[in-house]
Amino acid sequence: MGRFFLSNYNPTPEKTGNYDVAIIGCGVSGANIARRLSVYTIKTAILEKGSDVSFGTSKANSGIIHGGFHHNKKYLKTRLEVRGNLMFDQLRRELDFPFKRCGIIVAALHEDEMKSVEHLYMQGVENGVIGIELCSRDRILELEPKLSPDAVGGLYAPGGGMIEPYRFVFALVESAMKNGVDLYTNYKVQTAERDISAGLWQVQSADGRQIKARYVVNAAGLFADEVSRIFKGEEFSIKARKGEYFLLDKQTKARPERVVFPVPTAVSKGMLVIPTVEGTVLVGPTADPAEDKTDYSTTSERLEQILDSGKTMIPSLSRNDVITNFAGLRPYLEEDFYISPSKKTPAFLQVAGIQSPGLTASPAIGEYVKDLLKSMGLNLTEKPNWNPFVEERPRARTLSSLELDKLIDADPGWGNIVCRCENVSEAEIIQAVRLGHHTLDGIKYFTRAQMGRCQGGFCTYKIIKLIMQETGLSWGEITKHGGESYVLKAELG
Ligand SMILES: Cc1cc2nc3c(=O)[nH]c(=O)nc-3n(C[C@H](O)[C@H](O)[C@H](O)COP(=O)(O)OP(=O)(O)OC[C@H]3O[C@@H](n4cnc5c(N)ncnc54)[C@H](O)[C@@H]3O)c2cc1C
Repeated sequence: MGRFFLSNYNPTPEKTGNYDVAIIGCGVSGANIARRLSVYTIKTAILEKGSDVSFGTSKANSGIIHGGFHHNKKYLKTRLEVRGNLMFDQLRRELDFPFKRCGIIVAALHEDEMKSVEHLYMQGVENGVIGIELCSRDRILELEPKLSPDAVGGLYAPGGGMIEPYRFVFALVESAMKNGVDLYTNYKVQTAERDISAGLWQVQSADGRQIKARYVVNAAGLFADEVSRIFKGEEFSIKARKGEYFLLDKQTKARPERVVFPVPTAVSKGMLVIPTVEGTVLVGPTADPAEDKTDYSTTSERLEQILDSGKTMIPSLSRNDVITNFAGLRPYLEEDFYISPSKKTPAFLQVAGIQSPGLTASPAIGEYVKDLLKSMGLNLTEKPNWNPFVEERPRARTLSSLELDKLIDADPGWGNIVCRCENVSEAEIIQAVRLGHHTLDGIKYFTRAQMGRCQGGFCTYKIIKLIMQETGLSWGEITKHGGESYVLKAELG
């Protein structure tokens, strides 16, 4: 399955295996760091153990661009959250990913919760959050008419928003690669040695490949502790904290206009009702310690709690609208992000413990890491021809019939709708495969095919046939998300 490892977004990259910077992990942290470094005349590689990018924590989260009021500015994560939030408008102009500043409200359902709301408001003001508002009952119900009539007031942060996190990562990586960054997928960093005389790290993958790099950035999410150990860096332990969700169909009548938060507790921001940027609704997440960092299972007990909790804020939420459930794992280290040059091992930069609001903060993490690398001695000269733009690709579901007709004239694949729930055409699936997404999940996250009401019940076999047609893979080699996750068993024939 390793045969496509260099192909994502760039079918014939020329690679020497010698880099100025190697970034380990291609979630939203690694992708932002890579794109930021692509501005300069250095050679950068991303080493990702997954068969596609964004298959770690960055694929399963709430997708919220947070409002900057949940935490005190003494934390690095808060400062990067506030800065990161402001960077999304420009990123959206340059890249192709769904983003909407729908605003965030925190709803108080009891008078005694208003004290906490006032605290959040003051914290937001101190953090420099633009437009933050303390709301009366009338105002909060005006902002969100679907809220429970029990609401007594709340908070409004108009700068909060929603993105599709995987599309954000895909777009960042596409941009970075267009500007010369090399991506190695299926590259699980397993060992590393320091060539002291050359001042280089030699970084080996589990399947025996090797690259060399002057600087290494550890952005390995849940496994940043293992990677730190490989490089003889600091000893720490990343714990997983699971968040389970329900996903509701687009048809639901309970979709709010804004992200609705309850008043947070000491350990969690609570369970939210989230109008996703593509029209569905998420309810969750829970926050439970998870022993196994690969366990994405959900439990009926927790899912019951999610629905009950969501209904206290939006009473019209209904089990009949549920189309699926899933879980994400937060990489928890301590209260704050740990972003720092290693004090134990040379030319090694830790980007660890990137829990929430890591998605929001990620553009600012990219900028911060660039500055840290510079302070570690990396010479940064801007490329004269750096191109910030990624082509905005048409999507059948957003085109007018006239626009679609034009595309069908040029390519009949636009007229063959493969995923009827999400209105995704054959042409879009083929484009995704040609960009390097060769797994069912990669195609799902890039196109939304399999994400609708039937959850792939009707379109999965068609997508498998298109992957086979485009890549030459046999049916037995098609996987859900790489590795051993084969979808068809050989004995079935
Ligand atoms: C339930 C939940 C809800 C959340 N909601 C929000 C939200 O609404 N807003 C927000 O701002 N943040 C949110 N977050 C936080 C956000 O999702 C994370 O902070 C962010 O995705 C972390 O990105 P990352 O790139 O650091 O890690 P990851 O996305 O996990 O990326 C790390 C990558 O490293 C790779 N890797 C690991 N080991 C190796 C190795 N040895 N060799 C090569 N590659 C390796 C992994 O395969 C992975 O792709 C949420 C998180 C969770 C779990």
